[in-house]
Amino acid sequence: MDFLTAGTAVIAVQLCMALATGGIYLVDPNRASGAQYWAGAQILIAAGIGGILLDGGVGRPWALILANNAIVWGAIFQYWGLRAFNDRPFGKFALLLGVLFFVSHATLLLTGTPLFPRLLLFSSVMLTVMSLSFCTAWRATAKYRTLGAWLVLSSLALLIFNNLLRIVAASLRTMDLQPISQSVPAIFVLYLIPLAGIVLYSVGLLLLYFERSIREQQYLATHDGLTGLLNRRALVQAGEREIDLARRYRNPLSVAVVDIDFFKRINDRLGHQAGDAVLVDISGMLSSICRRGDLLGRYGGEEFCIIFPSVDAAECKALGDRLMDAVRQYSYLGQYPVTVSAGFATLEAGDLSDNWEQLIRRADIELYKAKGNGRDAFYIASDRSGAAPLTELPIPIQARA
Ligand code: GH3
Ligand code: MG
Ligand code: MG
Repeated sequence: MDFLTAGTAVIAVQLCMALATGGIYLVDPNRASGAQYWAGAQILIAAGIGGILLDGGVGRPWALILANNAIVWGAIFQYWGLRAFNDRPFGKFALLLGVLFFVSHATLLLTGTPLFPRLLLFSSVMLTVMSLSFCTAWRATAKYRTLGAWLVLSSLALLIFNNLLRIVAASLRTMDLQPISQSVPAIFVLYLIPLAGIVLYSVGLLLLYFERSIREQQYLATHDGLTGLLNRRALVQAGEREIDLARRYRNPLSVAVVDIDFFKRINDRLGHQAGDAVLVDISGMLSSICRRGDLLGRYGGEEFCIIFPSVDAAECKALGDRLMDAVRQYSYLGQYPVTVSAGFATLEAGDLSDNWEQLIRRADIELYKAKGNGRDAFYIASDRSGAAPLTELPIPIQARA
């Protein structure tokens, strides 16, 4: 393949990518912040490659100045896009680098300096911008090294390696660059590898956006917006899955339903915002009593549910005590004490009888007993393998005078 064919194909791909990234920015500017830079970068890079193609190897200074600057500024725009996408501050150093490149490259061209020093300058600047982009992408994707992240990182690594090769070639002047089209290594190092790298990089950036979008949609679909806990749907799904596992491995499993006492009064007296703050505080408190593997969710307005895998009825007592103690130490703004009531139910090891609804119903019955008996207490559903029937009124485990 020659440069004309490869270059034309890359221009077409870049322009399509510019449409895609620009379109994404228009419909979802918050989540796709940075995509406007990417669209600009793709247009600049297409224009730069187009400029080189149109010059056709003649070497007209202004054509080369514009084309090379379009490519360098395209790389800088991609870097800025990466920074904006990852909420990093604007990269001023890259701006300085771009201006310095413009001035020195134009000076070299207009003073008739031969190709090698210009190639050295171009590749050094590109190497610096790509390295900056690599560092930004590496740090920003430390939490989620997804396929898109790896694609961006590996295409940047390819572009960095390519620019190093160009620098070595330009320094040693070993590569036969005249005429370019007849030297296979020169075509690879000068054109095909960077063109492939640029396309992979653009695809990787697009994938980063889609991955973020899917991740955020999944989070919104499974989490409560106020407290950040699992929402009811996610909790029910997790509960059903945990019950299946508990049955299969003959492990016990317990659930707790926790409801804030007289929550309406908090709203009525202190306002809805104070009510929200209490919900957030209580959810944090419940999180603190959960261990790794426990699942906590907001089940309804001021009602929470916790799934305790591998916890039997005997252990529920200690958990309930911890829960009550934690909440009793809390008061909203240090002035307004808040209490909760809770009901526990357990699926004992080897018990195949309960499904999720039945288990929650048993816990709910205990919660209403706690409410009916003065609140600020928890009850544990009696062990059905023992003598006590479900309907029997239980003895309060914990109640404050
Ligand atoms: P009980 O002790 O019997 O549970 O009484 P309660 O007042 O806590 O229960 P009730 O069901 O009467 O009231 C619950 C209140 O919770 C009513 C509703 O406005 C409020 N609520 C539900 N969701 C939210 C929320 O997201 N934010 C705020 N601030 N209030 C909420
Ligand atoms: Mg309540
Ligand atoms: Mg309630």
